Amino acid sequence: MLPSPYDPARVLTIGIIGGGQLAKMTAMAAYRLGLRVAIIEHGANSPAGVMTKLEFPRGWTDAEELERFITVSDIITLENEFVAPELLEQIARRRLVFPEPKSVALVRDKLVQKRTMRTAGIPTPAFADADSPEAIADFAREHGYPVVVKTRTFGYDGYGNALVGSEQEIAAVWHRFRSGEHPRALMVESFVHFRMELAVIVARNRRGECVVYPCVQTIQENHICRAVVAPAPLEERYRQQAQRIAQRAVEAIGGVGVFGVELFLGSTGELLFNEIAPRPHNSGHYTIEACQTSQFENCVRAVCNLPLGDPAMIVPAAAMINLLGERHGTGIPDSPIEALRHGHAWLHIYGKNDSRIGRKMGHITAVGATVEEALHRARTAADGFVW
Ligand code: ADP
Repeated sequence: MLPSPYDPARVLTIGIIGGGQLAKMTAMAAYRLGLRVAIIEHGANSPAGVMTKLEFPRGWTDAEELERFITVSDIITLENEFVAPELLEQIARRRLVFPEPKSVALVRDKLVQKRTMRTAGIPTPAFADADSPEAIADFAREHGYPVVVKTRTFGYDGYGNALVGSEQEIAAVWHRFRSGEHPRALMVESFVHFRMELAVIVARNRRGECVVYPCVQTIQENHICRAVVAPAPLEERYRQQAQRIAQRAVEAIGGVGVFGVELFLGSTGELLFNEIAPRPHNSGHYTIEACQTSQFENCVRAVCNLPLGDPAMIVPAAAMINLLGERHGTGIPDSPIEALRHGHAWLHIYGKNDSRIGRKMGHITAVGATVEEALHRARTAADGFVW
């Protein structure tokens, strides 16, 4: 039995598996609502770990540490979908876990995820299992080059993706993912010549009630998200259709919590599902300053079975810029102070212990009367950072 979040006798503790920026921003929302937070992460002083006395730095693969974490947590959620499924099942036998392990299992493997969506009638790019180089070649002969080969698990920020432009390139891509210490199972899909990449955040609670955030545009460089623009500068009918697909995708996995759904708007106007993340999502960071209720607060509300908050924007437009590491160094950037001088813009420094090239170290959100104004403000404030 889950205690009421507002039982006068004891304060509810949300345990979060993972201690990165998503856990940190979720914890900030939980604290504001008067709740407590426990963090389990591999390593001390993670962005969220430093916020709580209930920090478990030996990580979830250490059985005793996990036991201590479970003991202090009333309810458990996660900030990354790569926790071993057996472990999540084991935790779920002791405490309520949201999203539930069965939902995470439908998402963790991208091939299973796409099959689940196809079964639910949600449009996706053409895809297939890639269990041999020949399977990739056969798929490409049927659907045409280029194709995108993806690792079925553990892909993030494009690290598990490879674009294959011709049959001659298949062997090298196969070798890249299949040799070495951790050979990965692969899938292949058609390359989508998209007009725009979109994302929609959906929160769903245990009663099946949903709130759907505005449809935003995500701008990727080298498969990693650089900027988000809200709302997506697009015809309203596409935005609404994207919102409907996103809600159906969350329902297809029976998701409870907050989910980021990524979509492509194809060059001929078709909307295609790309992927779903079973947790707060980079494309929803703008909701902290630009919406009635942030994605993080709605994550807390959803997993605690509280009423969901209004996802509507409170400003006409917003833009978010990711601040990526450009070197190997500390978590503190050069000259962040300038960014604080700009109005209508908010700096977030995640407090990671060190930076690496391409690592997400922080972000800036700006708001404005138009998406152009918001983007200009965010870019101006982000100028001059070196991480
Ligand atoms: P990750 O899980 O690493 O974020 P995604 O599958 O979302 O991987 O891919 C990351 C980015 O790669 C996408 O945002 C998009 O820019 C590009 N991409 C992925 N799949 C396709 C595709 N089928 N067609 C075109 N671009 C793609």
